[in-house]
Amino acid sequence: MIHGTTQLVGIIGSPIAQVKSPENFNAWFNENAVDVAMLPIDMREAQLAGFVSAMRGWNNLRGCVVTVPYKLTMAELVDELSPRAAALRSVNVLRRESDGRLVGDNVDGDGFLNAAKAHGFDPVGKSALVIGSGGVGAAIAWALCQGGVRCLGIADLSETRIRALKAILQNAFPDIEIHTQYSTLSEFDLVANATPVGMGGTGETPLPANLLQSLSAEALVTDVVTNPVLTPFLELARSRGCRIQTGPEMARAQLANLGAFMGVTALNI
Ligand code: NAD
Repeated sequence: MIHGTTQLVGIIGSPIAQVKSPENFNAWFNENAVDVAMLPIDMREAQLAGFVSAMRGWNNLRGCVVTVPYKLTMAELVDELSPRAAALRSVNVLRRESDGRLVGDNVDGDGFLNAAKAHGFDPVGKSALVIGSGGVGAAIAWALCQGGVRCLGIADLSETRIRALKAILQNAFPDIEIHTQYSTLSEFDLVANATPVGMGGTGETPLPANLLQSLSAEALVTDVVTNPVLTPFLELARSRGCRIQTGPEMARAQLANLGAFMGVTALNI
């Protein structure tokens, strides 16, 4: 039940009907008797800047989760960015301070790493490959570097995106080896798909089948795709004996980071 006293948080994107955060957060608020509610907001791009301006004056709004396609645009519109959001030029959550200022962060990488740690993966000194250097791939790559990997491979169909991400990572983490070429997967302790490949039952994998045969059985293999939960990439990895981490696991593992950043949940929900 929403009361006059209820504080609000939003999740903004377009479309928005597919997101699971409102039911996850509202169930948690309800079970924990927290007087906060999450609203799904499907906003047209032409009105986004006006909406951000209105958020500054919205006294009972605590913050907003930001999803596709506004993660990059929102980073340009808020008043302050965390260091990682500034480096990645992308936000997936913002907090409204009591004076109305909007502060943005990107916790996609935290969610990824929380889930990987739950599978027993400790990034310190490890070697990892992130396939896809877009918004989520960049956030995952950042989290792995911050977590202490020894070397990181990055891949994408776009050379421009690879070059841009490599420059960001080398600037922030000068001691970590960043590779853009590899001929086998056997040396990687973790291989992450951060592309949409495999979504919607296409049967596709983000790397060719012969290369996937070189996956180490010791590796943790992860996917960001949420539908289907078991992508062809994860199924192949599992058939090789690898541990696997699904897209919904990553999404679930960042709820606490999103809520804590907005100040409406603890970090251990
Ligand atoms: P994006 O468009 O910014 O980036 C995708 C990148 O993948 C692009 O740079 C593209 O060139 C690259 N790519 C596509 N096919 C490739 C291939 N075969 N090999 C190498 N690179 C390839 O998209 P995004 O915002 O990073 O989102 C990626 C996916 O992550 C989406 O499917 C999204 O739904 C999902 N996602 C999942 C979670 C989660 O918590 N599980 C969170 C956010 C996004």
